This record gives sequence, C-alpha cells and structure tokens, in this order.
Amino acid sequence: MAITVVGSVAFDSIETPAGRRDRCLGGAATYFSLAASFFTDVRVIAVVGEDFGPAEQSVFEARGIDTQGIEHADGKSFFWEGSYLENLNEAKTHATELNVFGTFDPKIPPAYGDSDFLFLANIDPVLQRRVRQATPNAKLVAGDTMNYWIKDHKPALLEVLKGLDILLINDTETRMLAGNPNLVQAARHVLTLGPRMLVVKHGEYGATLFHKSIPKGQESESFRAPALPLDEVTDPTGAGDSFAGGFFGYLASQSELTPGSFRRAMFYGSVMGSFAVERFGTERLQELTREEIDHRFRLFRELTHLD
Ligand code: AMP
Repeated sequence: MAITVVGSVAFDSIETPAGRRDRCLGGAATYFSLAASFFTDVRVIAVVGEDFGPAEQSVFEARGIDTQGIEHADGKSFFWEGSYLENLNEAKTHATELNVFGTFDPKIPPAYGDSDFLFLANIDPVLQRRVRQATPNAKLVAGDTMNYWIKDHKPALLEVLKGLDILLINDTETRMLAGNPNLVQAARHVLTLGPRMLVVKHGEYGATLFHKSIPKGQESESFRAPALPLDEVTDPTGAGDSFAGGFFGYLASQSELTPGSFRRAMFYGSVMGSFAVERFGTERLQELTREEIDHRFRLFRELTHLD
C-alpha cells in the first residue's frame, strides 16, 4: 500500500565530531521517503525553492519516489543548521529558516488519492493538520514532531494529535509534551491526547512502543527494540525520520497488521536509523540495498535472541 508523506524537504548544514557539511539535502520528509521507499510506494507533499535543482530531484527519482506533490516556489528552500558536538543523541539547533514553507498551502495531487497510509513528518502542525483533513480516506495515520513545535505551537500540535493513530517522538519530546519527567507516565498521558500507539525513540538506545490504556503495573503493554551498537556514528541527522520510514514503510508493505507486524516494524525502524547515521546527510540511504537491510535485520534478531 502506498504512503503519502508531508514534511520538510530541506538543506541542512551539519557539524558533528566527524566533520562538517554545508547545505546538504535533508528534511524530515526526505529521510522518511528514502527509508520507506525500500518497502513500498512513497508520495511526497512539500515545497522547495529555486535552490532545489536536478541533483536534488534525482535523489528522489533514483528511489522511485513520487514527487508530483513537491511544489516549486520562488525563494529559498527550508534551511536547518545544527550540531552534535556535545551529545550525539540530541541536535543543538543553530538556525531554522522556514523560507518557502512559511507561506506553503499544501495541495494533494489527485494521483495520491488512493494512499491508505499517511505520514505527517516533522513540519508546522498547521500544515500537518491541513493535509490530514484533505486525506479523509487514509486508513492508518502516523506522525512526528519536535521540541520546536511542542514549545511554541502546542495548541496547533494538540489538534494534529487528535487525528493520529501513531505518534513517533523521542524521549525528551515525550516528557516535554506531557510535562512529566517519568517516561511511562508521560507516555500514558500522551496516549490520552489522540494516538492509540506511541513510539518513543531513544537515539542510540533503541525505541519503545507504548499501547493505549497501559494498565497500571502492566508495563509489558510496551515493546522495546534495541539500536544496533555501531562502531562509527558519522551524523545522527535524520535517524528519527529514517526510523519512522522503516517502521511505517514496513507496516504499509504488510497485507495484515497484527501485534507481531508492529514489533517487526520497530526492528525495521531501528535498521533504517542505524544506516542513516553511518554517513553524512542522506548519503548512506542513497546507496543502500534491500539485501543490506535484510542482513542487518537478521543481526538485530541475533542481538536480542535468548535461546
Ligand atoms: P531528525 O530525524 O530528528 O534528526 O530530523 C532531522 C531533519 O529535520 C533535518 O534534515 C532538518 O532539515 C529537519 N528539521 C529540523 N528542524 C525542523 C523543523 N522545525 N521543522 C521541520 N523539519 C525540521
């Protein structure tokens, strides 16, 4: 089944202990669609500026991603600058320039009408909500956000949460959204805001899936997938979006969704996150193969297998 995704398509300037890259192709929707494209058909809704040229376009085309919904506007593309010099698990943001996203009015191409899966990747919650309202037929809706929107755009974000089946955010964002430092209590609170499942990403420590109505004292209603211990983390940017692409892409590729599908999706999410961080920007996802993904999935199984 096809996935429609809305989110940032951006240029990123990134500094990590491994070095620096200026204005490389990034954005939440970019990482998400590259990762999900290994599992299913992906269609993107976004806006880019005049700085987005054939080289950037070819990154999407090489993975067969439908870009009819990427609007080209006058001006500059979304720009983000961040560093990970003190903590590889959390970016320090130095600049966020919305540019053409500031006035974006998303339009959904008619050809996207039969997408059963909708992913609201990180972008202004007002835009996420508009796309959600314009796609009433979506059968499974998941989304992401970040501290930037939780802090200063909370009312709009709370409206988005009401329309989600699954929310994927990191642990700091979960605590921030709930206003509670205890992760399990915070997760329980977030699950009263709309989504029936919450995936909390823990950076290099993996991710936890929480289900709605966790009975007190029965936290086994959650499921934890590890992250692969990696020798080298070159650039953590996009790990969360790549996790989401692997997770949601795998679900969209299944004819039936069982509790086991969601558990396997957590592992595919971790697999895609682990590849994304190996090189700067989207470099590793661009040259990845399905064989490498399946091989790493088997490594993940071995990592956690008891008998
Ligand atoms: P992550 O998976 O959390 O590392 O996401 C990194 C991507 O998010 C980068 O490629 C940025 O371009 C993008 N990004 C950063 N800030 C924002 C924002 N406020 N809204 C949307 N996308 C953003």
